[in-house]
Amino acid sequence: MRVDLHTHTSASDGALSPVALCERAQARGVELLAITDHDTCAGYREAVAALPAALRLLPAAEFSCQWRNMGVHVVGLGIDVDHAAARDAFETLQQAREQRAVVIGDRLARLGMPGAHAGASALAGDSQVGRPHFARFLVEQGYVGSENGAFERWLGSGKPGDVKALWPTLEQVVAWIVAAGGVAVLAHPLKYKLTATRLRLLAGEFAALGGGALEVVAGRQLPDATAHLARVAAQFQLEASVGSDFHAPGQYWSDVGDFAPLPPQCEPVWRRWVA
Ligand code: AMP
Ligand code: ZN
Ligand code: FE
Ligand code: FE
Repeated sequence: MRVDLHTHTSASDGALSPVALCERAQARGVELLAITDHDTCAGYREAVAALPAALRLLPAAEFSCQWRNMGVHVVGLGIDVDHAAARDAFETLQQAREQRAVVIGDRLARLGMPGAHAGASALAGDSQVGRPHFARFLVEQGYVGSENGAFERWLGSGKPGDVKALWPTLEQVVAWIVAAGGVAVLAHPLKYKLTATRLRLLAGEFAALGGGALEVVAGRQLPDATAHLARVAAQFQLEASVGSDFHAPGQYWSDVGDFAPLPPQCEPVWRRWVA
C-alpha cells in the first residue's frame, strides 16, 4: 500500500490547496494520505469534504514544540480533530505562532529589516504564518537573493529568527495528541542534526512520554540513514512512519509518495488504520 503520512498544504506553508494536494497524491498512486500542516487541521477539514474516492485521508497535523531548547516537530496521526485536547492544542499553538511572528519581526527590525511581521502576515493570509513567509518577505524586499539564503542568514537553526521559547514542551504536545486519540510520531529525526547519542536521548524521552512512532523514512534519504533510524525505532519499541514532507511541486527532496519503502523489520504505524 502506498502511503504518505507527512505533507503540507496552503493551510500552512505548502503551495498546493488541500484539494490539489489530494489530487496530486491520488495521481501518484498514494492510497493513504495524511495532511500534516503546521499547527492546524484546517487543510484536513477542507480536503476531507471533497475527497477523491480512491484516497483515504487520516486526520492529522504537525505540532511544533520545544525539547531542550530545540525546536522539534511531532506529527499527530489519527487524531480526533474535534476532541477538546485537539482544539486546545491548535488554539495554544496558533497563539504561540502569532506571538512568535511578532518576536521574529522585532528581531529582524533591529537588524535593519523593518515591517517583516506585517509583510509575512500578509503573505500568509488565512494560513498559519511561519518562517517560510518571513523568508519570502525578505526576498521580496531584496535583503537576500533566495528563501534558502534567508534561512541561512536569519531564520535557520541558531539564527535570530529561530525563536523556540514560545512553543509548548514535547511532553505537552505528546499528551495532547494521545488524549485526542492519535499516535505521536517524531518527525524527520535527522533534521535536528543531533549526534547519534542525543538522537537516542530524544527518541527515548519521546517514547517514555507516550510517543508511538518514529519517522523512519522522511523524504528521500540515504539507505544508511534509514537503517540507522530503523534501529533507533526498534531500540525504543517505536513503530515506523513514512512521509515526503511535501511542500511544493519541484522541491528537491521528495514529491508526494516518493520515497523508499520501510525496512521489513519495521512495524508500520499505519497498520492499525488499514483493514
Ligand atoms: P516554522 O514552522 O514556521 O518554524 O517553519 C518551519 C518550516 O520552514 C519547515 O517546515 C520548512 O518548510 C521551512 N524550513 C525550515 N528550515 C528551512 C531551511 N533551512 N530552508 C528552507 N526552508 C526551511
Ligand atoms: Zn513547513
Ligand atoms: Fe517539520
Ligand atoms: Fe513538515
